[in-house]
Amino acid sequence: MYDLIIVGGGPSGASAGRVAGKAGISTLLLEKENFPRYKPCGGALSPYALSSLDFELPESVIERDILKVRLHFRERYIERQRDYRLALLVSRKAFDNFLLDKARETGIEVHCGEKVLDCKEREECVEVKTLQNTYLAKFVLIAEGSGGMLKYKVRPQRARRTEYDLALVSEIPEEDEVIRNRFPGLIDIHFGTAPGGYGWIFPHKGYYSVGIVGTAEHLKHPKKVMQDFLQANGFSGELHVCAHIIPLGGIKRKTVSSRILLSGDAAGFVDAFIGEGIAYAIRSGQLAAETVADLVLSDRKLSDLKEYESRCTQEFGNFLVSSLKLEKVMHRFPEISFKLALRRKEILDKYLDEVVINRSHKDYVRWLLLNFSLAEPASKITSMTGKNQ
Ligand SMILES: Cc1cc2nc3c(=O)[nH]c(=O)nc-3n(C[C@H](O)[C@H](O)[C@H](O)COP(=O)(O)OP(=O)(O)OC[C@H]3O[C@@H](n4cnc5c(N)ncnc54)[C@H](O)[C@@H]3O)c2cc1C
Repeated sequence: MYDLIIVGGGPSGASAGRVAGKAGISTLLLEKENFPRYKPCGGALSPYALSSLDFELPESVIERDILKVRLHFRERYIERQRDYRLALLVSRKAFDNFLLDKARETGIEVHCGEKVLDCKEREECVEVKTLQNTYLAKFVLIAEGSGGMLKYKVRPQRARRTEYDLALVSEIPEEDEVIRNRFPGLIDIHFGTAPGGYGWIFPHKGYYSVGIVGTAEHLKHPKKVMQDFLQANGFSGELHVCAHIIPLGGIKRKTVSSRILLSGDAAGFVDAFIGEGIAYAIRSGQLAAETVADLVLSDRKLSDLKEYESRCTQEFGNFLVSSLKLEKVMHRFPEISFKLALRRKEILDKYLDEVVINRSHKDYVRWLLLNFSLAEPASKITSMTGKNQ
């Protein structure tokens, strides 16, 4: 009988594994793939994601330091630079592998190439069935990402098309010097490229990550949108494109039952406005493992597992709710939003300072309201100010 079994070795599962291992509870992590494995992603890590790690990332994992953002709408664009780091670009293959090694070094058991087929909650434990074996644990954390079905053990209702985004991504090889000249320390965001979303070009080391993301409900022809985006930005030839779903964060979802918890994409913890999920995957995995360790080590009541939900809400839940509101305004009205940002450049600067760095929509919206009396967009932005932000 393990104290904790973790399903999935992505950022969420690996981060949970490291916390559980350091706390000294007996832990097994089951990952269906053999690492290092490919993961479709832009690979942008925010300062919040970086500050959640209790170790430095090695140079071999870091591909680019980002201090600048270029925001396009049709043929126009704005560029804003900060004197601090906005993001780091990493290869997910190397980053995820490194995180899993950091979990392993705490002494937890890790089985790669072992897919979990089912989890059954019993009164005294959870039974976890894989292709190879059956295990028992006091608690199970499902960190299987966005595509898995095990999360429906906790929240039986299936996700509707209004509750997730569709993303298509391609990694396009290019000489590093060409990449550095074309995108010197900046990321390229194309507003309005996909309905309810955007297109991106991220300059990694030796390749570009190029993709589009939009709400599943409105993005009717994702392949065509992606093809047009690639063509408009000069990418041609035989390109390998991967499609994936991304849950929209900020929607109320159940993330804990009596002995099973959900974290990361499986729990729906993604910023709906910018599509950032790695930071929340890491933090929710850590919070889940801390909650389980508290219960196991201090002999607390089973019902205290619910504290996991309030810990997540307290740390980032309200932020995700505000991001969902921002998504509804900015991506649904990209032209108005872009024109506003073009006219008053401080709007983007302040977004980077207050939201990306200080992680407060409240201060950002207050600042917007104090500084601009632009009736139409401001009134839309006003409706974002929920009570709990
Ligand atoms: C195209 C795209 C671009 C993105 N770009 C960014 C970005 O630039 N920055 C950012 O912050 N976020 C980005 N995201 C979101 C980010 O990728 C996710 O939020 C993040 O990977 C979630 O981490 P996770 O650990 O929850 O899930 P995952 O990273 O998906 O890991 C889940 C793991 O579980 C394993 N698994 C699944 N089922 C089972 C099973 N039954 N048994 C055992 N193992 C299993 C999988 O093999 C996988 O390794 C992007 C997403 C997409 C789709």
